[in-house]
Amino acid sequence: MMKRCTKAILYKDNLKYNLEQIKKAAGENTKICVAVKADSYGHNAILTSKLAEEMGIEYLAVATVDEGIELRKNGIGANILILSLCTPEEYDELFEYRITPMIFSFEVIDLLKKAACNCGVKDFPVFLAIDSGMGRVGCYPEEAGEEAKKIVEGGFLKLEGMCTHFAVSDSLQENNVSYTQKQYESFCKAVENVEKAGISSGIKSCCNSAAFLNNKNMHFDMVRPGIITYGYYPDEITEDYLKSVNNNFNIKPVMAFETQVVAIKAFKKGQSVSYGRTWVCEKDTKIAILPVGYADGLLRRFSPGLEVTIRGKKYPVRGRICMDQCMVDIGIDNDEVCLWDKVLIFGPEESGAKTTAENLAKIGNTISYEVLTSISKRVERIIL
Ligand SMILES: *Cc1c(COP(=O)(O)O)cnc(C)c1O
Repeated sequence: MMKRCTKAILYKDNLKYNLEQIKKAAGENTKICVAVKADSYGHNAILTSKLAEEMGIEYLAVATVDEGIELRKNGIGANILILSLCTPEEYDELFEYRITPMIFSFEVIDLLKKAACNCGVKDFPVFLAIDSGMGRVGCYPEEAGEEAKKIVEGGFLKLEGMCTHFAVSDSLQENNVSYTQKQYESFCKAVENVEKAGISSGIKSCCNSAAFLNNKNMHFDMVRPGIITYGYYPDEITEDYLKSVNNNFNIKPVMAFETQVVAIKAFKKGQSVSYGRTWVCEKDTKIAILPVGYADGLLRRFSPGLEVTIRGKKYPVRGRICMDQCMVDIGIDNDEVCLWDKVLIFGPEESGAKTTAENLAKIGNTISYEVLTSISKRVERIIL
């Protein structure tokens, strides 16, 4: 274990709690595919995957073949879906490690079939991706029947299911709500086209976290929660909103991002702090130095605005956040904050943090997803 004080603590009980909430909300007849891509949004994909597997969750979703291989090498046996596209160089690894791709387009289907043929693989499961309005991967609904035929032709691949992804399901604006409904209907059309072509559409899935919580009629056979697993609500689909529509869905942040005070220095009125001299002391004060910076994922755009918690009180970060350090104003008369004190940047209530990744996201004009996935490799994850 590294001894560095800047680290991310993972509250395993909270992760388990969130997965239990998800299971309850999905019900017995809906499969769950937990998005563990990007190392579980920075939360350790192996930890999440093992826990999910223990709880009977059947599917995991990664973004790259390498992420899938890492899970297999760590003994994960659950189905692994890969949500992004890969190149033909990686096809043999899909077969070797039993990783299920989401595919579309005749060209790719042909290449994958050829690779399967070369590797002596038969009936290899794939999902057909449908672009129902996300404007990203997937064939258009009217092409789904022909694509499905192409997939099963020759017996090298089998259609395990069909997926689509929503573009604005995390919004409550009327035009966005109706866009999601249109996407849903368009996906249903795609399913119909596949069935009409005489091919079983298999496991149908369209819900991310937001739609899972807010569009219960769209669950189909499988839901694909990501962000809620790690304790954050997707944009406007907040806990308060859900309560207002009688949906008591409660989750807890899993990660606490913490460091320690490594120096305390007196600053005189007029002295500046950090690069660019963007902050100048208006009066004499004391500045605590923290060994955490943007190379750890504490994005430069969090200052000004970011407040950290020391001994239960919030203190503002001053001046620019550097690559490896940042500075906090603790005030001239502060005799509470001591050298080596623990500093919480964000975390669940029980960590003592008074801010969450959601608060940081607001300051940085981004979303909790980006705050969490930005926590870099240099920051050791410690499972509590
Ligand atoms: C990332 C992703 C998800 C999970 O999204 P959340 O908003 O985190 O729930 C689901 N489906 C696809 C295709 C994704 O890329």
